[in-house]
Amino acid sequence: MTNPALSVVIPVYNEEGSLPTLFARLYPALDALGTTYEVIYVNDGSRDRSAALLREQWERRPDTTRVILFNANYGQHPAIVAGFEHCRGERIVTMDADLQNPPEEIGKLLAAMDQGHDYVGGVRLAREDSWFRRFASRAMNRLRERITRIRMTDQGCMLRAYSREIVAAIAASREVSTFIPALAYTFASNPAEVDVAHEARAAGKSHYPVYKLIRLNFDLITGFSLVPLQLFSMFGMLVATLALIAYVIVIVYRLFHVHPDDALSVFWDRDILAFFLVGMMLFGLGLIGEYVGRIYHQVRARPRYMIRAVLEAASDEPVERRREDPVQRGLRSPQ
Ligand code: UDP
Ligand code: MG
Repeated sequence: MTNPALSVVIPVYNEEGSLPTLFARLYPALDALGTTYEVIYVNDGSRDRSAALLREQWERRPDTTRVILFNANYGQHPAIVAGFEHCRGERIVTMDADLQNPPEEIGKLLAAMDQGHDYVGGVRLAREDSWFRRFASRAMNRLRERITRIRMTDQGCMLRAYSREIVAAIAASREVSTFIPALAYTFASNPAEVDVAHEARAAGKSHYPVYKLIRLNFDLITGFSLVPLQLFSMFGMLVATLALIAYVIVIVYRLFHVHPDDALSVFWDRDILAFFLVGMMLFGLGLIGEYVGRIYHQVRARPRYMIRAVLEAASDEPVERRREDPVQRGLRSPQ
């Protein structure tokens, strides 16, 4: 058994409603590509019947299906990293389990890779999400473009294809909280983008309420840029300079006018100024806290996730590993 040409990595969290449709559409779409493939599902601690459905699918298609079961919910991106650490394909495609990324579009990504690109991102045409999500992601895309070196038209689209080298680099990055599409971009030598269709969720609802979206974007911004911190110190310098100038003006003014009860005192309001500065200071503290928190996470070096079990066929070990094992080779030789 050789390594497949394509690995499809799919994080799954409470998707019992979507999984049957996913199975029904994904496998025919992959068969139609005419390459060897494997599908790796990472069950991210689902509390519904997702794990049972994945096991059934594995029993139905053990040759092309592998299932990694987390013992708890660690998040979409750690789930993808686990898939990356276990996949064997030459090319790796990530997609969501809810069919918002049509599996029939995978061929487009691979066609772009055939032209020599090592990283192909999808750009969702006609997004089927709420207006709030579309507005928020447009704003975040714009902010990211300005303060990081990462150039992506649609950072939120998870239908993406990666070369083996990029996936290996991501798996080797020991970052605790990260944003896979952006991390991949930093390793890519020749990235490209293609337009892909987007559909409404097959079933269930989004797992990203506003709070989680904000967290995710913090990961993205602080994970790939120090600009927020630098902006803050620059603002500090600006305020200090302005304060100094204002102070000089006030002193000079008072030297010449004995009654300071007019012009300057009109806009010189200590309370408002103090409120403003305290607000900025708290904001800055929070910002520094965000980076310090990430350092804290990182130095503890906890495992990013724990795997309860991996469902795969007995011969599914990577080929290289098997070759190194003399006992296994001995067992195999009489055949
Ligand atoms: N997901 C996951 N762990 C989580 C949240 C989501 O593995 O904690 C998976 C989910 O099952 C889906 C994908 O990540 O396959 C994207 O999630 P969702 O569709 O809820 O996000 P949205 O499309 O709203 O951005
Ligand atoms: Mg979705």
